Amino acid sequence: MKVELAEVYGFCPGVRRAVAMVEEHLRVKGPLSTLGAIVHNAQVVEELSRLGAQVVEDLSAVREGTVAITAHGAGPEVFEEIARRGLHLVDTTCPIVRRAQEAARSLAQEGFFVLIYGEETHPEVRGLLSWTRGQGRATLDPAELAKLEGDRLALISQTTKGRAEFWAFVAAVVERWKHELREVRALDTTCPETGRRYQAVRDLARRVEALVVVGSRNSANTRKLAEVARTTGLPTFHIERAEELQPAWFQGVSRVGVTAGASTPEAAVREVVAHLRRLGGER
Ligand code: SF4
Repeated sequence: MKVELAEVYGFCPGVRRAVAMVEEHLRVKGPLSTLGAIVHNAQVVEELSRLGAQVVEDLSAVREGTVAITAHGAGPEVFEEIARRGLHLVDTTCPIVRRAQEAARSLAQEGFFVLIYGEETHPEVRGLLSWTRGQGRATLDPAELAKLEGDRLALISQTTKGRAEFWAFVAAVVERWKHELREVRALDTTCPETGRRYQAVRDLARRVEALVVVGSRNSANTRKLAEVARTTGLPTFHIERAEELQPAWFQGVSRVGVTAGASTPEAAVREVVAHLRRLGGER
């Protein structure tokens, strides 16, 4: 059985940068707390915790020292509290998320009500909403917008959503409210990295007979990647670790494709590939 990797898989530049910044701090300056998991991947979190990074869910749990903001970013009130309490900050906010936050902030400041295409409970979206300082809301369903807040509306997106879906959302909202709106501004704040992984798994599906998606089950981006993989019609197995692979899944399969979510470390992918090669009799 041949094992083939997707052309684009695993850590995106934003996550790679965040992990590198935390590792560098641990190596040079010592322990720190991270506000939420720096990556939604148990292996990475375990390894960073071994090196001295403690995950906290709330700033109140940090008494002193250094706190790291994750690649998803945070609202202005978090930065304000860190400064007020004299904590040291390692800000790993991804530059692409930072750009979306800046858009949310300036559009709200210009007097627009900011509608975010995204999941309101997602940490990145919670941060974006905070940057609107109460002048925004988030939803994935245009029908959920039951009334308008004023007649000037701005639309932006959670970075990990698809560009086409974002524009479809914009079109649906504008169509629904075209008689009430005076001004509309829509800014594509999606990140191309997510789409590149989806396209790569679709391309890979044309060359293989089964797909393995590696990554945490609590990683939204990996779950979505597995969903996209399933839409190709191939048998798709979402696993976290190599030990979960079952020989029966690959009976009669001569080529298997492997991909991984944006929060999956390279080491986990390599283990899965090595395990599959052993299963398939390759050396
Ligand atoms: S998916 Fe894109 S926006 Fe999100 S962390 Fe990675 S590079 Fe940044």
